[in-house]
This record gives sequence, C-alpha cells and structure tokens, in this order.
Amino acid sequence: MNSPNALCFGEEFPATGVPCHVEVSPSGLTVRFQDDARGLGELSLSFSTVSVSAGGLDHDQLVLRWGLTSQVQTLYLKDPAVIRAFRSAAPPVLTKHLDETAATVRRVRSRNRTVWAFMVAVIGGLVLAVWFSTDVLVGWAVDRIPVEWEKRLGQSAYQDFLVQQTVMKEGASVAAVHEISQRLLEHILDNPYTFEISVVKNDVVNAFALPGGYVVVFTGLLEQAKSGEEVAGVLSHEFNHVLERHGLERIVKQLGVVAVIGIILGDQQGLAGVMKQVGVELLSLKFGRAQETEADVTGLQLLHRARIDPDGMITFFQRMSEQEQGRVEWLSTHPMSTARAERLKKEMALLSKTVPEPFTFQWETVQASAGAVRR
Ligand SMILES: [Zn+2]
Repeated sequence: MNSPNALCFGEEFPATGVPCHVEVSPSGLTVRFQDDARGLGELSLSFSTVSVSAGGLDHDQLVLRWGLTSQVQTLYLKDPAVIRAFRSAAPPVLTKHLDETAATVRRVRSRNRTVWAFMVAVIGGLVLAVWFSTDVLVGWAVDRIPVEWEKRLGQSAYQDFLVQQTVMKEGASVAAVHEISQRLLEHILDNPYTFEISVVKNDVVNAFALPGGYVVVFTGLLEQAKSGEEVAGVLSHEFNHVLERHGLERIVKQLGVVAVIGIILGDQQGLAGVMKQVGVELLSLKFGRAQETEADVTGLQLLHRARIDPDGMITFFQRMSEQEQGRVEWLSTHPMSTARAERLKKEMALLSKTVPEPFTFQWETVQASAGAVRR
C-alpha cells in the first residue's frame, strides 16, 4: 500500500493517532490504514459528511472531522499534495471559510509580531537609556534633595556612631583639629553646611565625613600624622566629599533607579523611610574612583586657598600606604596608587605659589594629647 500521508484520531485509535493514507477523489476521500491488523478496513468519506478546519501550529494543516458528536473521528492532513487535491476536489462551501481563517491567522500573527517588536524596542530603549544615563539621573535626583534633609540623615548616623565611642571634649588634639577645620572652613565658598567635627579616642587610623557635614577624626590618625598639615590634607579631602555631596550620590545610586525616579517625581516622603535604613550603611560607604579624584583635587585647592602647605596631603597618603594595612582603615577606602600620587602632584603644580601659614599648635603636644588620653 501507499505510504501514510495523514494521521487519524478517534475513539478506537491510540491517543497518538494512527498513520493512514488518504486519497482524494471527486466524490470524497478514501482512507486506508497502513497496519490493518485491527481490521479497521477502508473508510470512504463523502464530502457531505465531513467538516473542515485549519489546524496545526501554523494553521497549514487541514483537520477533517466526521462521525457522531459522541465519537468524532479526526483526520489530520499534512501532506501539501493531499491538501491541494482536497481543496480542488471539495465543494467550495466546505473550504470557503478555510481561506478566511488563514487570512485572520495571518493578520493576527502579523499584528502580534508588530506589537512584540514594538515592546522589545521600547524595553530595550529604556534599559539602554537607564544604563547610559544613571549618573545623569543620580545627579539630577541628588540636586533635588534639600540640604536640610541630607543634614538630618547624616546627623542621625553621626549620633548613632558617637554614642558607641569615647568622644574627646578637650585637650590639645581637639584644639588642633578645631584650628585646622576652622582654617579650611573659612575658605569654603558657598558653604550650605554647618560642619561638626569630633575627635574620637580610637587607635584606628581613620577619618570620615557623613553627608551634611558630620566629620569624625580618630586619635589613631592624629598619632600617625607627622604634622597638622598632614591632618589638614585628610580633612580637606573629607570636607570636599561633603561639599560635593558624594555620600548622597552613593546612597541614591545604591537605592537604584526606581528611587531616583521617585525623587525626581517628588516622592521624598517615601524615600525618607528608605534612607533611614541606609543610615547605618553610611558609615561603611565607599566612594567611587571619580569621587575620590574629585575630593583629592578640590581638597588640594581648598588647602591652597587656606594657605596650608598641600605637601602634607601627599606625604601622609604615601607614608600610610607604605605601612602595614591592617590598622590603617582610611587606606582601605583610599588606596594610594601611583596614579593617585601622580594626579595630586600634577594638580599641585597647577596651583600658584603661596607662602604657607603655619598652625599655632605644637604637633608634639597634639600627639601627646591624642595618645595620653588613650591610656
Ligand atoms: Zn575619600
């Protein structure tokens, strides 16, 4: 017999269907089963007893149904030659709606394709836009956060931190840090912040600034520094992180694009809640490379305006980087790379020559005070 060109389904057949051979004649179809062990015999179907619909994933198959509603039998025609034969032999009434179905399917599919292409383009475009403009968005969002707000945020983290520390209230080290800070602060142009600086009794060589102008200097750093100018270098750098709102930029970036959009749209209330949770993280906030360079450069300029010898900035950074890294926490966030040193030296060469004004304190006294309190 001829090889099968269709699949037959029905009650008496297995669920996977039975291969069969279909022949089309002017009066109808003849279906022969390939493996006729079951004695299925030969079926003759006249066109008047079958109904036709389009089938298959691509609607390129013909599905013929016949029999009683309770035991419908189905024939799937896949072979294009058989389909062509069927279409030409069958009465037009039977195949008329097939073309309409095919046309509808094509139309819907093409519309779906257009919609999908559009969606993919929109989503892709958005992702790209966000990808390329995060920094712009962050900058924009940060600009819209009031300084008052930033102060509240920094202040709460500052107070939470100081509660767990021994804050030095007086002595030569406190006076020296105050003098250095005052010299710098007097030379900041357009300063919206009221800086608060605390000296904390702690061996760790570190200093940090929180958003809003809350600065902490550890006695460990004062002990390691060889002059007030070196401390001034660190403070000037930290002050400029505040002035450039680097902490806020980091937070907004960490909160993500959704928060950024929230800020831009004016949802500052919602953000206030999120920011509260971020408060703790402020203490371990790491700035980006670009922010560090900015703090270095603007810090250097501030030292210059305050007539503090800017050499201290470089010598301190360099000496610290040569030390064992363990206790020098400031270095873990401010590694002294060759590139950084080069950059600082280049920036320094650009500054006009001025005669530095020395500080009034004796550095040995300051160091003694910083160390003495510890014991
Ligand atoms: Zn820094």
